[in-house]
Amino acid sequence: MSDEKTLRRDVALANRIIERFGLSNAFGHASARIPGTNRFYISTRRSPGLADENNLLVIDTDGKTLSGDGTPNSEFWIHARIYAARPDVNGIVHAHPLACIALTQIGETHRVVHNPGGAFADGVPEYERIGLIRSRELGDLVAQRLGKGIAVMMRGHGITTALADVRAATVSACFLEESADLQMRMLAAAGGDAKRIRAFTREEAELTGGQTGPSVAAAGRAWEYYSAVAEIKPLGG
Ligand SMILES: [Zn+2]
Repeated sequence: MSDEKTLRRDVALANRIIERFGLSNAFGHASARIPGTNRFYISTRRSPGLADENNLLVIDTDGKTLSGDGTPNSEFWIHARIYAARPDVNGIVHAHPLACIALTQIGETHRVVHNPGGAFADGVPEYERIGLIRSRELGDLVAQRLGKGIAVMMRGHGITTALADVRAATVSACFLEESADLQMRMLAAAGGDAKRIRAFTREEAELTGGQTGPSVAAAGRAWEYYSAVAEIKPLGG
């Protein structure tokens, strides 16, 4: 398979993964930078679960649609402006997973409570402003909040992950929601007392992040697993 075909397939798969694994339903999108350019492949404006590798758009970091049939997702600015700000980022996922949203709305920052959560040892910043990211200016604000990190929580809205490739961005999004879901369960089991959660220390989080973090996982069995399941699970999970 050519590099271009592989990248297109990965983008479509990434979109289907975030829908099949419940990180998004009708909304959300994944993209990948075309290597060495300011352009990226992104799904058209429909559920990520319906993404088609033969029908992707190419958009540039100024928000111009260069090729493809269909309407862009209204929040493509998230992708455009993060790619503009971060030359090291080649894959982005934006999704609306419920446990992450719940964390933002109870004032709890993300904490590392299990091994895959170690990917987020540096913390996950929060973009506090509510509403959709439908302008270049708002895309720039999200990129600023992300900074040099790999993920940002968006209050009452969702998450965005930005990594070296779309596989890592996808695995990272899945790990972040799994981690947030676990944190919420722990909080409930502890009667809402956040102090009772035995979050990992910085050293522990770094250790597990190095062992199971998204860059490692994306290169191996996590991406293999998520993509294989996405191929056979029906739309709507
Ligand atoms: Zn959104």
